[in-house]
Amino acid sequence: MNKGSIGVTSDNIFPVIKKFLYSDHEIFLRELISNAVDATQKLKTLSSVGEVKGDLGDTRVRVSIDKKKKTLTVSDHGIGMTAEEVDKFINQIAFSGAEEFLNQYKDKAEAIIGHFGLGFYSAFMVSKKVEIFSQSYREDTKAVHWSCEGSPEYTMEETIKAERGTDIVLHIDDEFSQYLEDATIEGLLKKYCKFLPIEIAFGKKKEWKDGKEVELDEENIINDINPAWTRKPADLKDEDYDKFYHELYPTQMGEPLFHIHLNVDYPFHLTGILYFPKIKTNMDVHRNKIQLYCNQVYVTDEVENIVPEYLTLLHGVIDSPDIPLNVSRSYLQSDNNVKKISGYITKKVADKLAELYKADKDEFAKKWDDIKMFIQFGMLTDEKFYEKATGFALLKNLDGQYATLDEYMDKVRENQVDKDGNLVLLYTNDPDAHYTYIERAKAKGYDVLLMDGELDVHCMSQAEQKHEKLRFVRIDSDTIENLIRKEDAAKDTYSDEQKEGLRKAFDDILKSQITNDQSPINYYVSCEPAAADALPVFLTQNEFMRRMKEMSAHQQGMSFYGQMPDSYNLVINTAHPLIQELVGKETSEEVQEEVEKKAEKEGDAPTKETVIKTVYKLDGEDERLKQLIDIALLASGQLKGEALAKFVNRSVELL
Ligand code: ADP
Repeated sequence: MNKGSIGVTSDNIFPVIKKFLYSDHEIFLRELISNAVDATQKLKTLSSVGEVKGDLGDTRVRVSIDKKKKTLTVSDHGIGMTAEEVDKFINQIAFSGAEEFLNQYKDKAEAIIGHFGLGFYSAFMVSKKVEIFSQSYREDTKAVHWSCEGSPEYTMEETIKAERGTDIVLHIDDEFSQYLEDATIEGLLKKYCKFLPIEIAFGKKKEWKDGKEVELDEENIINDINPAWTRKPADLKDEDYDKFYHELYPTQMGEPLFHIHLNVDYPFHLTGILYFPKIKTNMDVHRNKIQLYCNQVYVTDEVENIVPEYLTLLHGVIDSPDIPLNVSRSYLQSDNNVKKISGYITKKVADKLAELYKADKDEFAKKWDDIKMFIQFGMLTDEKFYEKATGFALLKNLDGQYATLDEYMDKVRENQVDKDGNLVLLYTNDPDAHYTYIERAKAKGYDVLLMDGELDVHCMSQAEQKHEKLRFVRIDSDTIENLIRKEDAAKDTYSDEQKEGLRKAFDDILKSQITNDQSPINYYVSCEPAAADALPVFLTQNEFMRRMKEMSAHQQGMSFYGQMPDSYNLVINTAHPLIQELVGKETSEEVQEEVEKKAEKEGDAPTKETVIKTVYKLDGEDERLKQLIDIALLASGQLKGEALAKFVNRSVELL
């Protein structure tokens, strides 16, 4: 028997492994199985070049548990190791500057393991003793038995092993007894080994028979050795992609909307499949993530720095041996390969979307509502993607018709350019609440867009920045005449006093109603000659202020707008017959005369208020004013609760 000390320059690697790598201890299984798979693949390569003669026989990797002996064993039929090789690959862990590095990466288990090639040693995270039994594929070599109890001392001796390959036997520590449970191991195998290129067997297949679970003779194979992403797109049908999707996410319901098969050889290697999922609720968004593989070995589903942020909402797999896995996340961002990968994925996704749109616009439009969020997110965060996406990002109008912004602008240009040359696009985020406004717009032959998505406001602002003479305005943000102003504003015949009186009368009532409701909303009253067939009084909401408020809900640093109360304009339509009747038929000269007469009588200049009260007989008690205000509130969905009940009662009385 041969005794020796493992060649670690640092005092002892084992306490480090146990202590620092604690949080990630489950990866030991991935490391051991990766080694077994590597050894098997090496053998296959040697065989294919004729270095290994004859049939390779069984090449499955097996994982087994012996509950009595408290061992977990990983066995392969790969190239195996001679005593010299065990000495070289396992005993001589030569590394320099170990301590320094360990301090630096204390909490990054994977970094340490990867950096030192300590894959095998991760077994000590969960074992009190590890044994290797190995028989090299080389002729005339003896099998070797290596054993180590978690200290730098090991033993090595000759042994007899009938089959070529390696068994790694882990004597599991008492505190890690969960790794002797079938369910735990099967779970880990499913997580890390589901798509390894060599079959991994764990126990026997089970079947339900007469209400009992019975074991079959057949081995339970964990993995799919030819996952869809490793195959040629030409060999795959849509069904195959859908099937793989469910293999990847067994609990995900429904089919993905479409897929993108990634395949690059230069200047880096990357394969994979991305899926656009059909997302129903916000919860779905984060349930399944893109999985990152390295040569079919699962690495992580935290791909934030590798895939552009907006695409992390997609599903699927990315497999690349060129992504440096063992470095810190912040380093990843600055890695050139990673940057290229991210750029490539963006381009590929954009090209695919453009291709789908070109191939079948109607079919693409059907999917639009489901993919809209990804695309808008991408356009807002990635300039390159924005440029490409203008070719397929769609707008939807109230008739359910879809068009790109360019197509849509061409469609409405004839009718919706204002006198200053601005192309005005009208939209609503709530067709029911804006019904009366929409009707008026339609009567003018205008088209109205439906913009009810979470990112729509941001996208509108972005489009306005990119197109100089483009304005989006919500249908309720002004009178329809003002939204798309075709000629100079119409003038009314009222004097300033008349208008001020009118304004004041409405304002008083509004104020008293608001204080009653303790409404957090600010209302401003103004007079405008809108149109005879518009409502006599109606509400509008300034586009700019409202949009700032909406955007601040999603953005940091804009809380100033977020804290502003909602504000609306109450527009008194002086072109409406009802308002004209309220004010009376007097022209401004007549009013002026009357005021002067009054002043003579009283020997003093009358206040505006007395003028209004005496001349127009308008005051805060006027039921008609209350009714008109309520109608305006009602038409924009703001009349609720007690106020609504009062309105109903008053209406009945007036009848
Ligand atoms: P890495 O796999 O990163 O090189 P490991 O510590 O996991 O580091 O393994 C060290 C070396 O030991 C491997 O490179 C390989 O040569 C050898 N080895 C480990 N496991 C096996 C195995 N199951 N069969 C053959 N050789 C193995």
